[in-house]
Amino acid sequence: MSLPDVYSAEPIPDSARPEIDRLLQSADLFRYTAPEDAPVALLEAEFAALLGSKYALAVSSCSAALFLSLKALDLPRDAKVLIPGFTFAAVPSSVVHADLQPVLCEVGENYRIDIADFTAKLDEVQAVIISHMRGHTSDMDAIMALCDAKNIPVIEDAAHSLGTTWNGRNIGTIGKIGCFSFQSYKLVNAGEGGILVTDDADLVARAVIMSGAYEHTWQKHKAPEGENTGDLQAAFARWQNKLPLYNLRLGNLSAAIIRPQLPEVARRVRDGRANHDYVASRLNESAWMQVPDKLAPEERAPDSIQFNLVDMDDAQIAAFQSAAQTRGLKVQVFGASKDNARAFWNWQFVPNLPELPQTRKMLMKACDVRLPARLKKDELDAIADVLMAAVQDVMAPRQAIA
Ligand SMILES: *Cc1c(COP(=O)(O)O)cnc(C)c1O
Repeated sequence: MSLPDVYSAEPIPDSARPEIDRLLQSADLFRYTAPEDAPVALLEAEFAALLGSKYALAVSSCSAALFLSLKALDLPRDAKVLIPGFTFAAVPSSVVHADLQPVLCEVGENYRIDIADFTAKLDEVQAVIISHMRGHTSDMDAIMALCDAKNIPVIEDAAHSLGTTWNGRNIGTIGKIGCFSFQSYKLVNAGEGGILVTDDADLVARAVIMSGAYEHTWQKHKAPEGENTGDLQAAFARWQNKLPLYNLRLGNLSAAIIRPQLPEVARRVRDGRANHDYVASRLNESAWMQVPDKLAPEERAPDSIQFNLVDMDDAQIAAFQSAAQTRGLKVQVFGASKDNARAFWNWQFVPNLPELPQTRKMLMKACDVRLPARLKKDELDAIADVLMAAVQDVMAPRQAIA
């Protein structure tokens, strides 16, 4: 069995075509032209309903959603925001972009926030971004209890966690605001795009205006059916003309590509989880590879697998990577690949970048392999076989027969 292509995404469902044709014909690509029911507005209503949130705002990327979330919180300039030391560079970037200061917190061997370090740093900050990196959910019960007690708002970066649940509740709906990505490597692919969800009328009104709802285009943002629309209208009226416009809107074509994928989410989650758990069970048979357990309240939605190399030094880790590469599989070790955007020491745009010894140690042995939901069992076995053989090559080369 040859190795599958793990980089290309699933085809966009054929059901997207009539709407895309209609948009090409009408050239009605801007979300605020149609009097109502523009594809972007329909996407927002459908996404909010899917997640069980009151409001959604679709924007140009998850980075834009994170930036607008921070701006919506109306924090004073240079306020500190606690973020995990293991996340994508977009997260500290959004904090810097919003004229705020990131404070980095240690992450454990299981890729999740170290609650002791989080607790120790919480008093310095005025907001928190929890990044569910690669879909690994941090302990949201502990985090929400700590933050609620101090009245610190929590933004969830769920870019890579669509479909993950915590105690049965959708990730992204536990904090004050949740942010998701439609970039091509995420569960729903529009090339680019993002969306934020919240139950807070004031926050969403601020984010809507700053996303580029100039004049009274915000009138096209509705409260969900059965909700009191008064709160939202009052919030828009309160913020009219008071906020800058950053123009981070999503266009109708992107929404037309995203909407037909929403009914596919449940299947992608189910298959992605089964694929991940199957490969995890194979890798865990090796003494040198360990896939951390999920937390008990968590049901994951993985489209990749992360595992730690055990009892291997840096030279052995490098040899493992090249043995896998020789067999045709690219294994990324987060801390070992040059200029990796998920290694905190490469976020040199952050002032006073700290050292995080525990997170660094994890990054130097944590491997990342893409595992899209569309893979079949023989393809999963081919990937697991390569990983097992590569680790065997390095750690237990077969003795030559005398
Ligand atoms: C992809 C990703 C982002 C950024 O999403 P964009 O839509 O590309 O801006 C942020 N955080 C995490 C954890 C991601 O995986």
